[in-house]
Amino acid sequence: MIDLHVHTTMSDGTVSPRDVVRLASRKGLRAIAITDHDTVAGIPEAQDEGRSAGVEVVAGVEISAQWSHGILHILGYFVDFHDEQLLRALEYLRRHRLERIPKILSKLRDEDVFISTEDIRQAAQGGVPGRPHVANVLLQKGRVSTLQEAFDRYLKKGAPAYVRKVKLLPSEAVRVIIGAGGVAVVAHPYSLDSDDPAEFERIVRDLADTGVQGIEAFCPRHTPEQTAFYLDLATRLDLVATGGTDFHGSNKPKIKLGVIPGRSPLPYSILDELRRRKPHTRDADNRT
Ligand code: AMP
Ligand code: ZN
Ligand code: FE
Ligand code: FE
Repeated sequence: MIDLHVHTTMSDGTVSPRDVVRLASRKGLRAIAITDHDTVAGIPEAQDEGRSAGVEVVAGVEISAQWSHGILHILGYFVDFHDEQLLRALEYLRRHRLERIPKILSKLRDEDVFISTEDIRQAAQGGVPGRPHVANVLLQKGRVSTLQEAFDRYLKKGAPAYVRKVKLLPSEAVRVIIGAGGVAVVAHPYSLDSDDPAEFERIVRDLADTGVQGIEAFCPRHTPEQTAFYLDLATRLDLVATGGTDFHGSNKPKIKLGVIPGRSPLPYSILDELRRRKPHTRDADNRT
């Protein structure tokens, strides 16, 4: 049993890297991948805990990529988290995230909502700041009654305080992951927001041409029909069908670590298959 999509307090999850591994251990998970947005800072702590708790911790990352509509997130697995180009790319993305927060706060002020960057800094607890932290402060201040309301009223695309995030080109995100000895996978493909199967296939084919090796077929947000479609696509395009919950702790309260509703636990063999797709020249990486 594994979960290959897990966030921690190093980005916008609410459970620390150490505690998320302990939780995985209590749940009997054999392996998890830490896939924080734009940072690999949680990996050493998680792997350290993994060694004592007997949980394999895969070094991962989640990178947002430019995409004309919908949302394209690329997951990287087995990355060398000391790789300079990877670190430089993530630092670039984090710098822009830091610059984005005051812009969001300024737009909120136009809506008569007053939040300071210090409020966000505290909410982020040293992690990479994002909209979920802003949503949490809105909740704390009683401006909204749920995190979802914060997104719907203020933060989602099209809402008054929405500010775009700087993103890499899909090919750049994939190149950085592969360059760090990693395997690139399309995250939660439903978010690509393409209703046309032919168009969707073309998009994934193009991504595979840039070096993507997998597609996250199993995800709590997918309908059985979507999962079946992604599995079929994975077979036809020779991609690994991966899975994960996108666990964020109480920032996504319905998501339980390791649990894809309506499906049996994800088998460890998925991880073996992914590992086989690692670039060959970098085999020695990832052992810490
Ligand atoms: P950011 O990276 O700062 O743009 O924040 C993205 C995160 O916000 C995602 O990982 C989701 O957890 C959350 N999010 C994005 N859009 C929505 C939405 N419409 N409703 C609820 N949560 C959202
Ligand atoms: Zn997130
Ligand atoms: Fe994502
Ligand atoms: Fe995620």
